[in-house]
Amino acid sequence: MTAKPPLFQFDNSYAREMSGFFVAWEGAKVPSPDLVLFNRSLAEDLGLDPSALETREGAAIFAGVTPPDGASPLAQVYAGHQFGGFSPQLGDGRALLIGEVIDKLGHRRDIQLKGSGPTPFSRGGDGKAVIGPVLREYVIGEAMHALGIPTTRALAAVTTGENIFREGPKPGAVLARVASSHLRVGTFQFFAARSDTEKVRQLADYAIARHDPDLAQESDRYIKFFARVLERQAALVANWVLVGFVHGVMNTDNTTISGETIDYGPCAFIDAYDPAAVFSSIDHGGRYAFGRQPMIAQWNLARLAETLLALICPGDLDKAVELVSTELGHFPDFYRKHWLVGMRAKLGLQTEDENDQAFFEVLLTTMHEQKVDYTLLFRHLGEAASGNADKARALFNETKAFDDWSLQWQNRLAKEGANAALVKADMDRVNPIYIPRNHKVEEALTAAEVGDYMPTKRLLEVLSSPFEERVGLEDYAGPAPADLGPYRTFCGT
Ligand code: AMP
Ligand code: MG
Repeated sequence: MTAKPPLFQFDNSYAREMSGFFVAWEGAKVPSPDLVLFNRSLAEDLGLDPSALETREGAAIFAGVTPPDGASPLAQVYAGHQFGGFSPQLGDGRALLIGEVIDKLGHRRDIQLKGSGPTPFSRGGDGKAVIGPVLREYVIGEAMHALGIPTTRALAAVTTGENIFREGPKPGAVLARVASSHLRVGTFQFFAARSDTEKVRQLADYAIARHDPDLAQESDRYIKFFARVLERQAALVANWVLVGFVHGVMNTDNTTISGETIDYGPCAFIDAYDPAAVFSSIDHGGRYAFGRQPMIAQWNLARLAETLLALICPGDLDKAVELVSTELGHFPDFYRKHWLVGMRAKLGLQTEDENDQAFFEVLLTTMHEQKVDYTLLFRHLGEAASGNADKARALFNETKAFDDWSLQWQNRLAKEGANAALVKADMDRVNPIYIPRNHKVEEALTAAEVGDYMPTKRLLEVLSSPFEERVGLEDYAGPAPADLGPYRTFCGT
């Protein structure tokens, strides 16, 4: 008889090399794990056997009840600035890294369970998650991936058979997610806040080996590493803004070193264009409003810079501060560069113009004043580029400002001389028709709370091809009817 192959070919570098950065821990026992969603294509990308995991055994693994062979489950330690205030002791309070696998492209990926029970870092929390937020993270993460935005991804969602108390009893659930690592700005802050320079160095070298291996032998690798993280974050936040995404809780513990979006809590996509848009019920001051995200990312990177000073120029703090300040000063330019490239693509423009920023802002200001749906307008502009501006115009109550802007835009396209049909096709490849519309997400999560997962599956299917318009999906393409009222999301649940 041949032995069954292991379900996961784990290679657990964090458990092996990073003693002192985690506690080994196991998930809570739960009554009846049930696999409700499983991401077969991601499983295949990870080199896993989907049919071996879409089983009772798989459900028990993803609930955290049974660690699979070769797993080294652990809770990672970190700190973080939350809404501007420093918490020196956070960590995985309801999550476990079960191990790392090397995917088919040769990239190392973490597999983490979120909602798998209390850990030494739970700080009085129950360590659990409930179905709504688990599926929100699943749906929005997968939507972001399909939009081409770096993100952690969902591998599986299980219900646990427990009732967890939130604003009432809710079905308990666990999300299995995949990340290129779970290293955060807050991981660095934990050790820097304890003045443990050697641990910060060990962490930085680990992060470099994992994310920027070409820097590993460089003598000035720490400042270069910082510059890389900064570029990744600038590009990430530009990508968010280009699709109208509001993360909602950009604390430093939710800011990755990899440049992936992480921890979808009170997040949402804007409907009407509004830089002040906030969806999180706890973000009273609007700290993490849509339009503040670039500035907040830069602030979070300044917190990372502080943790690296002692490595960058040992013994010469002034020099280290000068070097990181120079890098931080590049953030607005990096951000603007990514955003301008993205906006030109959204508008089908192939050439640069020195007035581009101002030109784009005229459109956005008009959209803001007239509460124009961000996603729909850019999608309809594709049709406008190919000769029919009716749908785009219809989104404005007063069309004059739009018409004036549009005339300049059309002139610019004409000057570029590109074929109109090709311009439309190019625009349609970057301007989604389907995003996770807040009311559709809510509709799906509400059904899931009573055990109906069909709306979630259908939504996932729609969002997996966000740029490809399909007949019969009109209901997914527009904002909620105005009488539904303002949308609110809730944190950490
Ligand atoms: P989040 O807002 O989800 O990014 O979480 C912030 C911190 O709170 C992290 O350290 C989490 O592990 C912890 N946390 C969130 N929810 C819970 C919970 N239900 N039980 C224990 N810890 C939690
Ligand atoms: Mg978090």
